[in-house]
Amino acid sequence: MDENERREILTAILDTTRECVLVVDKESRISGWNEAAKSAFLPNVSPKGRRISEVLRDLELHDAFKRALHEGLESEIRLEIAAGERKFDVHVSPLDLGDSREAIAFFYETTRLDRLEVVRQEFLSNISHELRTPLTSILAFVETLEDGGIDDESNNRRFLGVIRRNAERMNSLIADILELSQIEAGRVAVEPSTADLGSIVNEIFTALGAKARSREMKLISKIDPAVRVFADVQRLEQMLVNLVDNAIKFDRTGGVVTVSYENRGSVDVISVSDTGEGILPEHLGRIFERFYRIDRARSREMGGTGLGLAIVKHLARLHKGDAAVESILGQGSTFRIELPAFLQ
Ligand code: ADP
Repeated sequence: MDENERREILTAILDTTRECVLVVDKESRISGWNEAAKSAFLPNVSPKGRRISEVLRDLELHDAFKRALHEGLESEIRLEIAAGERKFDVHVSPLDLGDSREAIAFFYETTRLDRLEVVRQEFLSNISHELRTPLTSILAFVETLEDGGIDDESNNRRFLGVIRRNAERMNSLIADILELSQIEAGRVAVEPSTADLGSIVNEIFTALGAKARSREMKLISKIDPAVRVFADVQRLEQMLVNLVDNAIKFDRTGGVVTVSYENRGSVDVISVSDTGEGILPEHLGRIFERFYRIDRARSREMGGTGLGLAIVKHLARLHKGDAAVESILGQGSTFRIELPAFLQ
């Protein structure tokens, strides 16, 4: 292989790498680059001969290039561009070419990883916070029992009841967190089959009937008995339980929860509507996020974990569908599960 061929191959390799590569000569002017670097840093101009300081205004980066050019030293630095929108780990090292020395920098973009790290940390801190609240209550009531409350015949059972409720809350939180992490790790497989939607909804109504009655609410199914959808029955049930349960929780006393079905060509749409106070537009875009709750205290009081809708969305997507919400203030909300249509 001659020198030219070797260069061609090297150029091709560099141009297909996702990492940005820049070479700077001893006057700190750009003498080499790959496609990724051009589109990231110099989209509309020719890089050749441009001062690196015109292209990337970053003191640390310039010092790193100087160290490589004048002292032959390697450096590892962090670089942020576009007002912190994009972040890179940059490795700068001397590049000895015959008798002249230039410097080469590899830019590894970490924007996405950094964002994921922030999400992960927020998730962890949310979990800790959510677990601490019931735990604090349990500890306080155990202490009360130890300090004589156990002999207080008129209250000791009530204290135990509080402890039990909080322990149950921790239990359901942990179950939801585990469920969500299993789904996110791709460990939950959906196995769609032909599902009788009407029967599923009737079963859910039976299970949640007592809760609805305690709030004087009506549950109405508008599903034709002949309707079949293509879904993992257990997972579909789980999604609908979450939505119907929410509708009961957040509707007004005496309200009506209606489940209906509609085929829209290639999509089957299952809707759960309530007659509650509705959801403000600024919350609509976020309520499917983990732990996002409009009224934290109210959600907790109702035994909510703030994870139900996130689970619904994930499960719908596992079916190659989606979940969505619409709401009219003062009239109620409609949550929809959209599934790829069942073709008869
Ligand atoms: P939670 O455990 O709090 O029910 P979800 O993830 O199921 O958690 O719901 C997130 C938030 O979305 C709820 O806390 C509530 O503020 C809002 N929400 C969900 N369903 C309804 C509904 N049918 N009507 C009004 N708000 C709702």
